[in-house]
Amino acid sequence: MTIRDECGVIGVHGEEAARAAILGLHALQHRGQESAGVATFDGIPHLHKGMGLVEHVFAPLPDLPGEWAIGHNRYSTSGTSVAASAGPFLVETDLGPLALAHNGNIVNAGAIRQRLADDHGLTPVSDSDSELLALLLAVAPGESWPVRIRWMAERALGAYALVLLTESGLFGVRDPMGIRPLALGRTAGGWVLASESCAFAVLGGRHVRELEPGEILSLTPNGPAPAGQLPAMPRAFCAFESIYLSRPDTVYGGRTVHATRRAMGEQLALEYPVEADLVVGVPDSGTSAALGYAAQSGIPFGEGLIKNRYIARTFIQPDQTERERLIRMKFAPLPLRGKRVVLVDDSVVRGNTLGPIVALLRGAEAREVHVRVACPPLTHPCYLGVDMASPGEFIANRVPPEAMAAYVGADSLGYLSVSGLLRAVHGSTDDHCLACFTGRYPIPLLDSAVGTPEPALQELAP
Ligand code: SF4
Repeated sequence: MTIRDECGVIGVHGEEAARAAILGLHALQHRGQESAGVATFDGIPHLHKGMGLVEHVFAPLPDLPGEWAIGHNRYSTSGTSVAASAGPFLVETDLGPLALAHNGNIVNAGAIRQRLADDHGLTPVSDSDSELLALLLAVAPGESWPVRIRWMAERALGAYALVLLTESGLFGVRDPMGIRPLALGRTAGGWVLASESCAFAVLGGRHVRELEPGEILSLTPNGPAPAGQLPAMPRAFCAFESIYLSRPDTVYGGRTVHATRRAMGEQLALEYPVEADLVVGVPDSGTSAALGYAAQSGIPFGEGLIKNRYIARTFIQPDQTERERLIRMKFAPLPLRGKRVVLVDDSVVRGNTLGPIVALLRGAEAREVHVRVACPPLTHPCYLGVDMASPGEFIANRVPPEAMAAYVGADSLGYLSVSGLLRAVHGSTDDHCLACFTGRYPIPLLDSAVGTPEPALQELAP
C-alpha cells in the first residue's frame, strides 16, 4: 500500500492533559508516523515535538504542565519531512500565544505564503501549510479567536480539521466542506477533540458526536460551547477515510468504519459474484471488506495470509524483484491446496504489490485466485490531504479494469463501483468527496489542475 495517511490531531481539557494527548496520539498513530508533538498551556505555553513515532518522541516523558493540551501526528502531504515542519505550531500573537495542529491540505498555500510576505513581512520557518494557517490567524483582524478563524477561512481554501490552543481555551474547527473528520469525546475528567473517535477509548472516554462541517467549537473550563459557523459550502467528506485511512473502530455517522468496510465487501459480492471455496482479506485493511464479501456470498472467510507486523510499509522500491522480496517478507500464505480463493483488498494504487500477493497464493497451491477490490479504480491525485500518487502512477490509468486480472496474474478481478461505494458509506455525491475516483473535486478549480496543480492554485489569492 503506498497511500499515506495525512495527520492526526487531538485537543484535551482535563487533568494531566499532556499525558492524555500523548495517549490519544498513540491511538492516532496510523494517521502519521513522521513526527509527533504536544503543546500545553498553564499561563504560559509549553511545546515538545520531534521526528519519529509517538513512543520515541515522548520517551522520556517531557514536562508539559497544564490542563489544556493539543497534539499532532504528522505525515507530510505538503512540505517536506523535516523537524521544522513538525506540529503543533506555536506563534505569538497580540491575543497571546497560539498553538495550532492541522489535518488536511491547503490548496492555495503558495498565494497565502506570498501574501504573508508582501503584506506582513512574515517568513515562515517551515514549508508546512499548517504554519501558514497559524500565521494567518496571528495577523488576522479581530479581538476574538472565532472572528479570526472566520477571517482565516475566507482566505485558506482546502481541507482542514484544526485544534487551536489559546489563552481563552481550546477551539476545534472543521472546514466548511467537512473533508477531514473531527470528533468530540467525553472523559471522566474533561473533554477531548480528536481526528477519530478511536482516540477516546484509550482515554477511558466516550464518543459524543462529530463536529459539523464549518463548525467552530470551543472547549471552555465549563465544557464545550458553540463558537460560530463558517459560511456553508457543499459537503464533501473524504470517502477514503472510510475505505482506508481511518481505524476500523472509529465511528462516522453512528457506524464503525469496520461496519462500513463490511458493507463495501457485501456490495462487491453483489457486483462481482464468483464460485469459490474461501474468502481471504489482504491484512489488515482488506479484512473487514473480506468479511462482508464472505457474509454476502456465503463463501467461508478464512485466514490465508499471515502478516509480519514488524516489516515497515512497502515504500517505493527500486525494482520489481526487490518489491517481491519485501512482499514475501511481509506476507506468508497458509496452505491453500486446490482451493478457489477470493482475495479482497481495500484499494489498488500503483498495482505493484497485488501481483506478488496473487503469486504468493498460487505458490501456496491455490487453484484459482479471484481478486476483489473494495473501492473503485483510483485515477486522480488527492490535493486535500492524502498522499497517493501522480496521475501517471495510478495503475488504473494505464491498465483498464478488464485487463487488470491478467496484469496481476489473477483469474478474475472486480472493482467496487462508485454507486456501490456510496451505498456502503450511506452517502451521496452531495456529501462525499470521490475525486480520486471521478476527478470531480469539491473545489472546482482543482478539476483543471490535475497534473499541474501549482500554477492554477497560485491564482487563488487570499
Ligand atoms: S480526492 Fe480522494 S482521498 Fe482526497 S479527499 Fe477526495 S476522496 Fe479523499
